Amino acid sequence: MAKIRMKTPLVEMDGDEMTRILWQKIKEILIEPYVELKTEYYDLGLKNRDKTDDGVTYEAAQANLKYGVAVKCATITPNLQRVEEYNLKKMWKSPNGTIRQILDGTVFRAPIIVDGITPYIPTWKKPIVIARHAYGDIYRAVDGAAGKGRAELVFTDRNGSEIRETVHDFAGDGVVCAMHNTNKSIESFARACFNYALDAKLPLWFSTKDTISKVYDGEFKKIFAEIYEKEYKEKFEQTGIEYMYTLIDDVVARIVRSEGGIVWACKNYDGDVMSDMVATAYGSLAMMTSVLVSPSGVYEYEAAHGTVTRHYYKYLKGEATSTNPVATIFAWTGALKKRGELDGTADLCAFADRLEGAVKRTIEEGFMTGDLVALFKKPGVTPVKLNSEEFLQAIAERV
Ligand code: NAP
Ligand code: MG
Repeated sequence: MAKIRMKTPLVEMDGDEMTRILWQKIKEILIEPYVELKTEYYDLGLKNRDKTDDGVTYEAAQANLKYGVAVKCATITPNLQRVEEYNLKKMWKSPNGTIRQILDGTVFRAPIIVDGITPYIPTWKKPIVIARHAYGDIYRAVDGAAGKGRAELVFTDRNGSEIRETVHDFAGDGVVCAMHNTNKSIESFARACFNYALDAKLPLWFSTKDTISKVYDGEFKKIFAEIYEKEYKEKFEQTGIEYMYTLIDDVVARIVRSEGGIVWACKNYDGDVMSDMVATAYGSLAMMTSVLVSPSGVYEYEAAHGTVTRHYYKYLKGEATSTNPVATIFAWTGALKKRGELDGTADLCAFADRLEGAVKRTIEEGFMTGDLVALFKKPGVTPVKLNSEEFLQAIAERV
């Protein structure tokens, strides 16, 4: 059979440790036999980031902007211990953080649903996608301890005039926190959410706590509403999906009762907390897709988990590991499918769908990595634990 041709290259960002090993195997076993793979390769492995003074991360992000679609392997974010382990020049910043800043994106995470791995909430039949705003709020807050005295919030405009408000007159010890966001970032967040919902043909729910936070959360609500009216209402109606704004309390109650099939847009903190709840309820971080979407329609696909260091050290000792490659395979299929859509190459999209189907069938027929064995329950099927390579071969047999 002739291999599928690609028109435009994917931006390929290689990574670290166990996921770097899986990355290579996935290409060899599941992609290259079927696709004439065209990529522009950037090695974001920690050694090369150190060698290029992290220049490679910036170049990869620029290439992502140029070509539109990237696929990224998990990478080490160095801490002190890594600086010693890799003898680094510097404690380089998180590559995900750098890429996110350049793309100005929103992160979307969705569970990969497989028959036999039942969510803890039995009514959830379809994916719940969390769209997390990744800028500002408490993650960029200034906070501190207060004692007896007055805490004030002061805004000085460009002419030097001040607006001063009392936060609290403290009679004794306490704490204070000031946080911010920018309309520009909230607008980007809104557009990314609307675009994703249209793409996935799923309704979009956005929640804040604007009854209490009237100005701050009220601004989020207002910006979403204005952008929806002006730019997206018609497209949503044509696609037959709804946009709903409601209080976070209300969404939490609705989500639990729902059957899924929703994009839930969350402010930064809400998204941080709720994505952990949703991921756990669906089973595992290795069974989640993750994509960074920029407001200009640039996509970066990745796995939601890290480089699985504990397994890598075993691998280095020559042991076969049973590391779950599903999230990394879905990063590839997501990117190939998006590339196919943008280039109008239907056979590439069809291949990505076929590969995703093969992954799901492999697990549904009882063949999986160790992390899934305990979660798997299906009448008449006894789960079999395979090592990573055996699992990839089992998938290849079903493509
Ligand atoms: P991790 O790599 O996600 O692994 C934590 C644990 O979760 C593993 O030890 C393993 O548990 C389980 N696990 C995660 N992914 C798995 C998979 N695919 N298959 C099977 N089990 C899996 O997190 P970490 O150990 O905290 O971080 C390791 C490195 O990853 C760090 O250097 C961090 O900077 C980096 N990181 C990168 C990203 C990214 O690039 N997106 C995200 C997070 C972390 P058991 O050991 O119990 O089997
Ligand atoms: Mg979290």
